[in-house]
Amino acid sequence: MSSVFRSAKRKLSALVGKRSLDDEIPAVAASSLKGRAQSPPHKPPNMASRLLTPATPHSDLPDAVGVGVKGASERQQPETPSETWSGTGQFGTLPVSPSISHALADMGYEEPTPIQERVIPLIRLGQDLVGQAQTGTGKTTAFGLPIIEIVDKRSRHPQALVLTPNRELALQVSEEISRIGMYGDFKSIAIYGGQPLQPQIKALRQGVQVIVATPGRLMDHMRRRTLSLTSIRIVVVDEADKMLDIGFIADIEHILRQIPRSRQTLLFSATIPHPIRRLARRYLKNPQWVRIGGEAEPVDQVAQIYYEVAAQDRRVALREVLDEGVTKGLIFRRTKFGVDRLVSDLNSDGHDARGIHSGMSQAQRERIMANFKSERLRLLVATNLASRGLDIPAVSHVINYDMPDNLEEYVHRIGRTARMGRQGTAITFVSDMQDFDLLDKLQEHLGNDLKLAHLNLLYN
Ligand code: AMP
Repeated sequence: MSSVFRSAKRKLSALVGKRSLDDEIPAVAASSLKGRAQSPPHKPPNMASRLLTPATPHSDLPDAVGVGVKGASERQQPETPSETWSGTGQFGTLPVSPSISHALADMGYEEPTPIQERVIPLIRLGQDLVGQAQTGTGKTTAFGLPIIEIVDKRSRHPQALVLTPNRELALQVSEEISRIGMYGDFKSIAIYGGQPLQPQIKALRQGVQVIVATPGRLMDHMRRRTLSLTSIRIVVVDEADKMLDIGFIADIEHILRQIPRSRQTLLFSATIPHPIRRLARRYLKNPQWVRIGGEAEPVDQVAQIYYEVAAQDRRVALREVLDEGVTKGLIFRRTKFGVDRLVSDLNSDGHDARGIHSGMSQAQRERIMANFKSERLRLLVATNLASRGLDIPAVSHVINYDMPDNLEEYVHRIGRTARMGRQGTAITFVSDMQDFDLLDKLQEHLGNDLKLAHLNLLYN
């Protein structure tokens, strides 16, 4: 039945022609896709291991930086760090200062995730590194926590810079860093386009230790001389593969060249295609490579199913899917137009749904995202804008109303559910010829994890 459907669909699609849709995000650059995840899912470390926290030779930062790590010794030393990590607090096996431990407890973080356990000690040593991890693994805290320790809170000059591919992620990362630093005299700001420059200039003048920025707006400030990067000691390039996809790599290189070479550089990416490898070779010093999980792997807790539905039946199919336990659904469409149309269809079917895409103002996007993160909004229809990095807790279902363009995009999209050990379901509608081509690739890679299911479509 399935193959009959497929061949009929293929013929139909061949007749109808290819997609003619206005993709917002350029095609993802080729990247190698390796085998299944090699790391087990996160398990909190054994409590007994807390007692075995190794004595570390660097209990205070000025001496700590650079010890035993090639390339780290030439880094600028903080004159007087206002926070050290040798305090009485504990984060699983990691010693942390009392104020950070207090904040982590407030945030409900009891144990470090695997990437936090591996990366935090390396960053504390001043080591450059490339961190390869799935989204949702806790990588923001993995670099955010040591950044808060490293910056000198008595100085109001920016000392840490985090570069992110989009505004939502900039806000999210800055908020997470601010939360970890909430009990210290510490300031992080997000700088991104689509907002007036003046408030950002004012905030920069008042002084901040950490800047989380999108490349375009950051360069705008650099050109206007409203921001200098000469005091930056640690740089994070977050979601580097996404930066590559949207053509930001030249900007990243330009920015990195404006920052003193004595800096510490961290690069995080879900996949490491060739240009990212090149970037790491060129701008990082003897980086450590830390890999958590496979190169493009969905988290294990996502139940993945697909339905073979003709394009014109998807609206009815979605109606039925939504009736089955979707407590919070993120629905992906390929185009802005598609998002708007589906939102209006859902609204006329009586669902409270909103859309998000790059054609909307920043204020609208932020408001809708905030509603979706809270209890106020159940259904969000999005373009790929929402597929990477964004942390939307409690998403029970990701629905690919339009299929993604490739395996990586699929993995990123479905990574919006089953965050941090929760269960989630990813539903994909397979509707035309290209969809079946991608389905073949997904199945080749995911094997039995992606299962065919059936709907009894009820028309009314
Ligand atoms: P990220 O990969 O940084 O986007 O983080 C994914 C999610 O994990 C976010 O909701 C974080 O708040 C949460 N998170 C990060 N670290 C921990 C931790 N150690 N314990 C519990 N939740 C965490």
